[in-house]
Amino acid sequence: MTKIKFPFGKPILNNKEYVSVTRVLKSNILVHGSISKKFENSFKKYTNSKEAISVSSCTAGMHLTYFSLGIKKGDEVIVPAQTHISTAHAVELTGARPVFVDCISETGNIDISKIEKKINKKTKAIAVVHFLGIPVDVYKVKKIAKKYNLFVLEDCALAIGAKYNNKHVGTIGDVGVFSFYPVKHFTTGEGGMIITNKKKLAKKLRLLKAFGVNKIFSERKRGIYNSDHLGFNYRMSEIHAVIGFEQLKKLKIFLKKRNLNFQTYLNNITKRKNIEILKSTNDNLKSSHYCISIILKNKLATLRDKINQQINNMGVGTSIYYPQPVPRMNYYKKRYGYIKKEYINAEIISDNSIALPVGPHLKKKEVISICKIVNKIIGSFDE
Ligand SMILES: *Cc1c(COP(=O)(O)O)cnc(C)c1O
Repeated sequence: MTKIKFPFGKPILNNKEYVSVTRVLKSNILVHGSISKKFENSFKKYTNSKEAISVSSCTAGMHLTYFSLGIKKGDEVIVPAQTHISTAHAVELTGARPVFVDCISETGNIDISKIEKKINKKTKAIAVVHFLGIPVDVYKVKKIAKKYNLFVLEDCALAIGAKYNNKHVGTIGDVGVFSFYPVKHFTTGEGGMIITNKKKLAKKLRLLKAFGVNKIFSERKRGIYNSDHLGFNYRMSEIHAVIGFEQLKKLKIFLKKRNLNFQTYLNNITKRKNIEILKSTNDNLKSSHYCISIILKNKLATLRDKINQQINNMGVGTSIYYPQPVPRMNYYKKRYGYIKKEYINAEIISDNSIALPVGPHLKKKEVISICKIVNKIIGSFDE
């Protein structure tokens, strides 16, 4: 095993989180408490949205949203092909069918020009993913959605802090859903958040995330409640919430470091005609830099696994975002078939890219060291 000196991702936790978790544990109130509310309120303020609903993961949040909208078997939802499998699973879990759309090569974001062709009578919603923190032009997507009366879900799992014309991602579509999995921008262990400006929908999401019962814990007397609805247990515990509350306070610093590290890569990775870097193509789109993804081209493209391995052998934690276009994953391929030529750009990103770390666990000096390693290895294949 290689010793990884520069991990791809690492949660930044310190005494603030340790002390607050202990305080929650000693309070004996582990769910239904005030801290998840406090976390929701600070998240609302941060994103400037009207409602924030804490959930147990981003996947749970997306599934809950579709379920609450009544999306079901026989319906279809437009989903990007280049994303985490979760974006599609959240649709599939309702019985509806995810209908995949290829991405554009510059950013990895959904190719908006290809959405309309996939819309039919069964289509109920469009999901977009702000790929690696690069904002999608959700206004353009909304225009299409309006024409066909469709719901817009923004999968913001990689994009907290990303802004479009100074509006936080997740606030332009109907809902935005975030992830606090350990290697995302900040963590709660596992966890997620839904934001929306729709009060009525928020009420339904809160109801169905907790079994659909008609009384929240504090309203119950002698354990009495009833239910008109089918629902889940997708709540966030107070233990998770307090970690998120503390982490959110640090987000500004985290994002500043991510931006600095990303710029350091741009300044230090040797420019070559055989590589390209996925990045925002418009100054109004402020990326929150989940990682930096290098696309290998021409003769370098077929050497991806070799180059990735060699970089890894030098102690740099690498990853691939994402390792397959989702419709090519076995589950979806078997279920719906796979037409390769429909997903040309998603294939290039999955098969020819290497993702390098930009997280706040890395100092500028360390990023420069990574760049030297990467330049040397790529250079040795690109003579
Ligand atoms: C990580 C991720 C998810 C899943 O988030 P969980 O909180 O682990 O459910 C969904 N979508 C995207 C784009 C992701 O990167």
